[in-house]
Amino acid sequence: MTVLGLDDTDSRDQGMCTTYVAAEVSKALHRSGDRISKLRLLRLNPAVKHKTRGNAALAIHTDADPATALETAREIIQSRAVLDDERTNPGIVAAAEPIEPAVREFGKRAIREILDRDAAKRHIENAGYRSAGFKNERGKIGALAAIGASATLADWTYEYIAYREPDRWGTPRDVDHESVFAAADRYYPTAWDTVDRGEDEAVCIPNAPGPILYGIRGDAPHVVARLAAKIESEPVHTQALFETNQGTDVHLRGAPIENVRDNRAYTVTGRVIEPPETRAGGHVFVTIADGTGRLPCVAFEPTKRFRDRVRALRVGDRITVAGEVGDGTLKLEKFAVRELLEQKGVTPTCPTCGRRMKSAGATQGYRCRDCGTATDSKSVVGIDRELEEGWYEVPPCARRHIAKPLVRAGFDAPTHPEQ
Ligand code: ATP
Repeated sequence: MTVLGLDDTDSRDQGMCTTYVAAEVSKALHRSGDRISKLRLLRLNPAVKHKTRGNAALAIHTDADPATALETAREIIQSRAVLDDERTNPGIVAAAEPIEPAVREFGKRAIREILDRDAAKRHIENAGYRSAGFKNERGKIGALAAIGASATLADWTYEYIAYREPDRWGTPRDVDHESVFAAADRYYPTAWDTVDRGEDEAVCIPNAPGPILYGIRGDAPHVVARLAAKIESEPVHTQALFETNQGTDVHLRGAPIENVRDNRAYTVTGRVIEPPETRAGGHVFVTIADGTGRLPCVAFEPTKRFRDRVRALRVGDRITVAGEVGDGTLKLEKFAVRELLEQKGVTPTCPTCGRRMKSAGATQGYRCRDCGTATDSKSVVGIDRELEEGWYEVPPCARRHIAKPLVRAGFDAPTHPEQ
């Protein structure tokens, strides 16, 4: 079998989408009598600055031979990719299975690190893979990574993408809002992130120009397809079902703060050391420390109601934060409450006369000015907390493609999923 990797055919303004190109390549191979066994959509490191939107790369598993697969893709990319956009630099790689261990490793690293073109080209050459590149060929990084990651990852989810008729691209999408919400309710939680109920937003419908009408995500291929069939909309031109690493958290790795670097994504456990603060633009900041360093974290304004969860944290809470780090700050995708501060010290009330006591000076304890009663320390009282133990997440409207929704299984603490 051959695995064909594709990347970077897309343009932010003019609209195209590598998933569409991959679907077209698959159809062309199919028409020539070749079988497609898997169509995979891989989300690579979301911190890559050259990405158009979601840093997607595609892997097509086919019984076409590598030369045929490569030529088919080259012709389609030549006619479909937005090559006059300076940021569009397509790459294609065709690999015969089994995939080399070094390429598998490259695929894993591409989800968590920043890699370079020369390394990709070296791996392609060492493995003896056929490849083609356009312009600066940056897309070869993602194309090779898609092949490696497709051979390596274990947790797969599904996305059913419906595409628009080409003459409608760039015009407002005509999709019936009620039918999307009704279908989303019917198939939740196997299908997730179809809508954001809190924001009343159909998040399955993209805002950007381009061929996608909507994309339905979930854990089972037949369920995402069934949900899509319930949506009333303008005519669907074509559709494709992708196996993906979306919603898997495979970008995250655990680390102490001293090892945290920019452009990577982590889970880090520590204590809140500064109270949450809302700054200009509505972004909410909170800082944690773990004994090896301190890490500022932020919930950006678009994370909406999630910011209230962050604002509810208090100094002393022990939490695990998850997200990508940039400029030394972790952009929160989710956090888990491990220990909540449930009590606090307050100025004591006099046990004799019931009046409020006064400080008797630094380290001198407290005295009652009325009856002279003295005590060494503050009184301890319980605090009402709005948070509970477990994971909190951004709402669907702010979800990153690769971030795992809490409604999926496999978290190490209770979950408080957003719908
Ligand atoms: P498209 O729909 O075109 O794929 P996108 O948002 O997925 O849009 P790209 O246009 O593909 O973004 O741009 C991402 C670029 O970054 C590609 O050229 C890809 O090869 C490269 N890339 C992907 N992962 C990495 C990585 N880990 N390190 C460095 N470059 C990467």
